[in-house]
Amino acid sequence: MSETVHSGGCLCGAVTFEVIGEPFTMTYCHCESCRCWVSAPVMGGCLYHAEKVRIVGGADKLAVFKRTEDSGSHRKFCQNCGSALFNEHPSIKMIDVMAVSISDLVFEPKLHTHYSEKIVSFYDGLPKYKGFDPAVGAQGIHFLSSLASQNIAIAIRRYLSSIPVLTALLRKPTIAMAVL
Ligand SMILES: [Zn+2]
Ligand SMILES: [Zn+2]
Repeated sequence: MSETVHSGGCLCGAVTFEVIGEPFTMTYCHCESCRCWVSAPVMGGCLYHAEKVRIVGGADKLAVFKRTEDSGSHRKFCQNCGSALFNEHPSIKMIDVMAVSISDLVFEPKLHTHYSEKIVSFYDGLPKYKGFDPAVGAQGIHFLSSLASQNIAIAIRRYLSSIPVLTALLRKPTIAMAVL
């Protein structure tokens, strides 16, 4: 079965691209770097394996910004219009594609990352993580692939938290900061 191909591009249309299949996951990132880069209170990203992202046009218009020389985030944007498009993580061969740049994909975020740096609060019931940098490599992948089981754990914890006598047993540290 062939995978769905979604298309996207920058504001001026100089850079166009395709993403193949559905994203590995979709996230809100609250980190200061992402917020500053997109000039918004939060960044919406769709994480794809690098080979699933194909530049169709305007590759020569793409510029890259690295905050530090050894940064694991290679942020690519259109030189014409400034649109933020890709946050590449070469160490794990994955790319966070800016959700708003994919024209025909419904953005359904699954989690919040770097919620400890937030400037806006969300009450959407999604897991909220203190940190997470996809550049941590295999650890990052493991973290993401374990989310399904964590979601079940969160649901159970929510239910049990209504029973006071059991609440103390549930106060062990977890990766998630809070589920609101
Ligand atoms: Zn552009
Ligand atoms: Zn970020």
